[in-house]
Amino acid sequence: MRKAIYPGSFDPPTFGHLDIIERSAKMVDELNVAVLKNNAKNPLFSAEERVSMIRELTSHLPNVTVSSFDGLTADYAARVGANIVVRGLRAVTDFEYEMQIAQTNHAINDQIDTIFLTTNLKYSYLSSTIVKEVASYGGDISRFVPEQIIERVYGKYHILNQNR
Ligand code: ADP
Repeated sequence: MRKAIYPGSFDPPTFGHLDIIERSAKMVDELNVAVLKNNAKNPLFSAEERVSMIRELTSHLPNVTVSSFDGLTADYAARVGANIVVRGLRAVTDFEYEMQIAQTNHAINDQIDTIFLTTNLKYSYLSSTIVKEVASYGGDISRFVPEQIIERVYGKYHILNQNR
C-alpha cells in the first residue's frame, strides 16, 4: 500500500493546499494531511481547528485522512507507516528550503522520500500568510480560501479586534 503524508501548517488551509491534496491523493492509496502543531509559529488557528477545517474540505476524498502532529516529520511518517512526504512548490524561493527539509528527512530515515508537486499556476502567489494579511485589513479573501473558511478567518480577526 502506498501511503503518503502531506505535512504543513495550513493556517488557514487555502485553495493552493487543497489543489495539492486533490492531486496527490490520486497518486497514492492513502494520503494523511498532517497538521503541524507548531506553537512556535504562533498560529492563528489551533491545531484542532485546522484539522477540522481540512476534514470538512476533504470530505469528498475517501482516501484522505487528517491529523495533527508535533516533532519531527520523519518520525511522524514512520509512526503512521508512510514512506512518502508530499510538499508543494510555488516558486524557486520555496526550493532551497524544501530541498533542505527533504534531505534532512531522508537523512533521518532513508526509507522516506519526498515528492514535490508544482503549484497550479493560478495559486502560485498564494500562501496562508497572504490570506491572513489581507483578512486582517478586512480585504476580500474569497479567491484564496474555500467558502467555509472565509468566515472563520474573518471571525478570528473580529475577536482579536474586539479584544484590542
Ligand atoms: P509550512 O509552514 O510547512 O510551509 P504551509 O501550510 O505554508 O506549511 O504549506 C504546506 C505545504 O504546502 C508546503 O509544501 C507549501 O510549499 C505548500 N503550499 C502552500 N501554498 C501553496 C500553493 N499556493 N501552491 C502549492 N503549494 C503550496
